[in-house]
Amino acid sequence: MDKEMNKYRADFPILAQTVNDEDLVYLDNAATSQKPQTVIDAIVNYYRNDNANVHRGVHTLAERATAQFEAVRQKVARFINAPTSEEIIYTKGTTEALNWVARSYGERFVKAGDEIVISYAEHHSNLVPWQELAKRVGATLKYLDLTADGAVDLAKAEATITAKTAIVAVNQASNVLGVANPLAQLAQLAHQNGAILVVDGAQGAPHMVTDVQKMGADFYAFSGHKLLAPTGIGILWGKGELLAQMAPLEFGGEMIDWVELTQSSYKKAPLKFEGGTQNIEGVIGLGAALDYLEQVGMDKIAAYEQELVAYVLPKLQAIPGLKLYGPKDPKKHTGVISFNLDQIHPHDVATALDMEGIAIRAGHHCAQPLMRYLDVAATARASFYFYNTKQDADRLVEALLLTKEFFG
Ligand code: PLP
Repeated sequence: MDKEMNKYRADFPILAQTVNDEDLVYLDNAATSQKPQTVIDAIVNYYRNDNANVHRGVHTLAERATAQFEAVRQKVARFINAPTSEEIIYTKGTTEALNWVARSYGERFVKAGDEIVISYAEHHSNLVPWQELAKRVGATLKYLDLTADGAVDLAKAEATITAKTAIVAVNQASNVLGVANPLAQLAQLAHQNGAILVVDGAQGAPHMVTDVQKMGADFYAFSGHKLLAPTGIGILWGKGELLAQMAPLEFGGEMIDWVELTQSSYKKAPLKFEGGTQNIEGVIGLGAALDYLEQVGMDKIAAYEQELVAYVLPKLQAIPGLKLYGPKDPKKHTGVISFNLDQIHPHDVATALDMEGIAIRAGHHCAQPLMRYLDVAATARASFYFYNTKQDADRLVEALLLTKEFFG
């Protein structure tokens, strides 16, 4: 698929630069993605031509801005196959979305003695909000064990998800181990026990076809910046009947229906959750990003990333002293690849690669309990997106061999 997919690279102006006198190879896509010119143009165009606050004015600019802002809600609903755009709530990102579920749903429905179940492979954003909720309401936080590949171990999950479970919260795909979770089975297990399933889609939505109904989620969160959109915009999707029972978290302009001196009433979802002026440029950028992804095709993106992984994983595995975390079978692997090289500290690996113009990430990747589970302090992580090429993969492998020689 190289020829078909490599043409998209030219749409990302930032990629056409040198870093440390080498052509940039950007392999830190799990942290954030680069933006195509159409997204940059959509934001500039909004400020040049349509800038106004939404939902308030009756003037032409306000109507134009509102129409664009609301049209994106429908694009998001289509992108994740939500039944209606009324279930799409704009947030700052995955972190805010998950915190809102923990506060608004959690404080209403999770009681003392209940259990909240997450996995050892969660990002802190899908871990700390549940820790805090558990403390506030007197619930217990439990952890799902992982298979050797790093996905939730379904065989063991049956002992952890029980009638005491109120919430199961897991990632769609790990930001460290590059493996997707068996969400439909986890949804079934959660629902059988009267619990809900919350899915952290930060590393899923950008890379695979996402259908919140098929996966059986009750809430689903993702961040715009990891799928070509600007930072500061994300999505919380929730089932309508759950959103209807949840209280707003931020009170003020826009989310109210009627305000009296001593009490107020609020709009329905999604607007009751969107207090104050929203990140309108972020929403418009998200709309352009989803248009772009739709035009490329999420199925093509998933297939091409699979091809890149099948190309690079055996080459990485062939480097003596390179220890890979996550699946060894490329077919089970997403484009996020974590590893350590000999005894070289991952920060030194990342710095050495930067000298070669290659951007990767090193550290605990906001998953400290997972680092302890893997018994490592940190890992190096190369993460691919559809604008990466096999040449990028070759450059990574060559630079790792050089690094090994240097530290040898
Ligand atoms: N969950 C996962 C799996 C992630 O990879 C990330 C970001 O790296 C997040 C949650 C948090 O996303 P954000 O910082 O955009 O809120």
